[in-house]
Amino acid sequence: MTSDPSAAPTAEHGYLLTTVQEAVRAAHAASLWYLTFGLACCAVEMMHTAAARYDFDRFGMIPRPSPRQADLIIISGTLTNKMAPALRRIYDQMAEPRYVIAMGSCAGGGGYYHDSYSVVRGCDRIIPVDVYVPGCPPTPEALLYGVLQLQSKIRRGRTIHREAERPAAGGAWLRRLALRARAVAGR
Ligand code: SF4
Repeated sequence: MTSDPSAAPTAEHGYLLTTVQEAVRAAHAASLWYLTFGLACCAVEMMHTAAARYDFDRFGMIPRPSPRQADLIIISGTLTNKMAPALRRIYDQMAEPRYVIAMGSCAGGGGYYHDSYSVVRGCDRIIPVDVYVPGCPPTPEALLYGVLQLQSKIRRGRTIHREAERPAAGGAWLRRLALRARAVAGR
């Protein structure tokens, strides 16, 4: 019999030692309710990932229509300047701790539309992003891998609360957008 109780196999001794924090983290990682934020073609792949073949539900991923019930937002598609304030507002309405996956090259950095006057060059200019899933569009397997990376990140976290967020670059960015919109409107 081993002298270290924490190393004892559950089958042999019938118990398992852990901390409340680790249990909370494990439960949280395995029950991510996600707010779908489909903006363009990537959203079709996100829907595909949730359908029967890839079956997001088996990872505890349940889609929610309200930001107040979601702890993950999957941004799939091209974020335009016009849509940026809505993204920020929805993100602010989500409960803490909250996580963000940027799906596709458009959400990650503007993609094909990087040089367009109307496209935000990466949604991390508006809200902090935890996982980037590259591709145009990323396959459902890629999005699943991104979710597994996020779950692993949550399990590794040192506290059950999100660490202090990066200074929200979104604030200054949105102020600039509002000023530009006012200048265009001649006000
Ligand atoms: S990354 Fe490609 S597939 Fe996804 S929204 Fe942009 S253009 Fe469409």
